[in-house]
Amino acid sequence: MKRTNDLWYSFSNLEKYKQCPRAFKYIYVDREPVLENEWSKQGSEIHNFLEQILKEAIVSKSFSLSTEFANKYPEILDNFLNLESKRIKRFKDKDLYFENELEQKIYDEELHLVCKIDRVYYLFDKDNGKVLLDYKTGKVKDIQDNYPQLALYTYMYNKKNPLNTIKWWEIDYIKEKDKYFLEEIDNKLIEARIKEVKEEIETIEKDNTYDCKLSPLCLWCPVIHICPMKQQAINKFKSTIEKHKLDMDKIIKEATEYRELKKGKDTKKELVVYSKLAGTTFTSYNLLLIKVGDTLQLVREKDNKYDPNAIAVYHNNNKVGYIKKELAVDLHIALDNNYEVICNAENITGQNKGNIGINIKITLIK
Ligand code: SF4
Repeated sequence: MKRTNDLWYSFSNLEKYKQCPRAFKYIYVDREPVLENEWSKQGSEIHNFLEQILKEAIVSKSFSLSTEFANKYPEILDNFLNLESKRIKRFKDKDLYFENELEQKIYDEELHLVCKIDRVYYLFDKDNGKVLLDYKTGKVKDIQDNYPQLALYTYMYNKKNPLNTIKWWEIDYIKEKDKYFLEEIDNKLIEARIKEVKEEIETIEKDNTYDCKLSPLCLWCPVIHICPMKQQAINKFKSTIEKHKLDMDKIIKEATEYRELKKGKDTKKELVVYSKLAGTTFTSYNLLLIKVGDTLQLVREKDNKYDPNAIAVYHNNNKVGYIKKELAVDLHIALDNNYEVICNAENITGQNKGNIGINIKITLIK
């Protein structure tokens, strides 16, 4: 298989390829700088907000509502809390309700796939298994429309966590009151999806031309300004332009100016992962010397007799713990792929109970 660059396949870039191979090439292979549209900016803002509020809830075991965002998107907050209040009623053990895995990135080296999971939680007790939850900020669709994404993410999560698998999947349409789907996973569907993904990747790997594929979506294509077919697209979909009152000259001008501004400049990509430091009970170092925001040094311990993927964490040259096992594997991949990896103390917990925990933020920069 040819690898065009260090590209990792994802649900969204595979979808982009199906929509138009040329757009896929410009965005993911050539990494053309593209303007983020209002819709996706808002989507990221909402996702970040939900992540933040859940992160705080995991630590404080309650929801804090005093955020700027709450004033900006009161309805979304309302919808979110409404779903949470229904969810919490299912739990006898409230601590389990707060046991969430948030915004985790999973890499599958075999398929060179990556996925970013919004949230994983227990349905109501450990026996009933975990739920993979994806938040949607767009229009409500039927759950079947989300099966390709849910199936792929479930496959990747379960492969990584064979002893503690996802048994349910859920979609929350956070802009609509009470709009969510929760279903048991379908293993046949997952199998079929993985077969399909393998074929899709094989097709991409063999593609040398990345042909343009005209459709009305060209009018919202973030790389239309550099596409050789742009005029044909504009001529062909005139009625769509009129219907949506699109100013194509303005769209193309702004995108071109942005590209000129960014091209050749720093187009670094950043990924952020949150985790908790493991193995802190084995250190004699006073963990209270670690302050929020402090940089922690990561040291690979390839000779570690228990785990060759172990990554030790140091504060001011003192070993304070380890990166969690499952995350350490991903970090090795990132380091091998020349990512700069920065680790900071994000939160210090349990100070009053004398049971100090260190939440960490890991930033991967390429
Ligand atoms: S404008 Fe249309 S044909 Fe051109 S790259 Fe974008 S989606 Fe493909």
